Amino acid sequence: MLRNVPGSVRIARLFGIDINIHFSWILIFFLVVLNLADSFPQQFPQWSNQKGLVVASITAFLFFGSVLGHELAHSLVARRFQMSVSSITLFLLGGVANLRKEPPSVTSRRSTSTLRRST
Ligand SMILES: [Zn+2]
Repeated sequence: MLRNVPGSVRIARLFGIDINIHFSWILIFFLVVLNLADSFPQQFPQWSNQKGLVVASITAFLFFGSVLGHELAHSLVARRFQMSVSSITLFLLGGVANLRKEPPSVTSRRSTSTLRRST
């Protein structure tokens, strides 16, 4: 298993799991911020550009925080089935949790089926 996806850096460690960000995540983060900031003036014409940018940044952090929470949930389920999760990496297409070994049963495979897929 990959302990660390090439091109990623560790930003935190939660529940003993390394939380990594791949360089491609920075691109999608800024695209989400710019897209939101660009749409706010039509929806909230009374907002200043700075306010729109701040709200867009907070919204993007909350969005990617939910992606991380999703992957953490997968990882904690994997642990419940005695699987070791080495890291979670956020990247361009979402997030991925990296297992150290295969799920031991069909039930655990079903419960953790999206561990290696992007969300
Ligand atoms: Zn998932």
